[in-house]
Amino acid sequence: MRKPLIAGNWKMNKTVSESIEFARDFVKAVSNVTDRDILICPPFTSLYPVSEIFNGTNVRLGAQNMYFEEKGAFTGEISPLMLKDAGCSFVILGHSERRHIFGESNELINKKVLSAVSHGLVPVLCVGELLEEREEGKTFDVVGSQLEEGLKGVSADSEFVIAYEPVWAIGTGKTATPELAEEVHRFLREKLSELFGSKKAESVRILYGGSVKPENVDGLMAMNNIDGALVGGASLKVESFVKIVNFGR
Ligand code: PEP
Repeated sequence: MRKPLIAGNWKMNKTVSESIEFARDFVKAVSNVTDRDILICPPFTSLYPVSEIFNGTNVRLGAQNMYFEEKGAFTGEISPLMLKDAGCSFVILGHSERRHIFGESNELINKKVLSAVSHGLVPVLCVGELLEEREEGKTFDVVGSQLEEGLKGVSADSEFVIAYEPVWAIGTGKTATPELAEEVHRFLREKLSELFGSKKAESVRILYGGSVKPENVDGLMAMNNIDGALVGGASLKVESFVKIVNFGR
């Protein structure tokens, strides 16, 4: 059985003091949750102060991006060693905003994924199609190659998480129906099975992301191949994110 993972991606939101206030209230509100994993990915500036609050609790810390080198002349970048030092155990890689606003390629994302696993960080590899790609019937081609190229060279014994995030559903209020999301999740699991074997494919958590809210999370989480959620907007308020963490109750 795959343990559900509910992850919050704060994107470029919250100052250090806002992050600390959220973290203090949130850890109290979810302290009794044991049957699902919880992850929050604040902006870089809030990682260390938030890690001091999450330390020893059931809430894990992740970053939203990283560079693949350990150190050096890479102005503006953050390394896997720095993320580990700041208390992170996860890192989101290949988010559609990184791909489409900052031009990240599958090749670059693959280097980051390989670097994350080799440093003991669990990558959350995001894949997802644009609206026009869906309309042209290219969804499976796009997400299939993002998955295959993003995971090139990764060994089956490394831990990683996949997030399916249709770009047309991110921050737009348009959620994929549970059935439509499940169709892509099933395809991704089959693809994982081709790449890594069925045992590994059955153990990988595939999250859904794209306007997940307290009102729609139950329907999505009821699907066989949806193992959690990557939540943007609705992870910014303690009340709504706690409701999402407690889906199905
Ligand atoms: C995201 O940031 O990955 C995301 C899915 O955002 P939202 O929930 O706001 O659509």
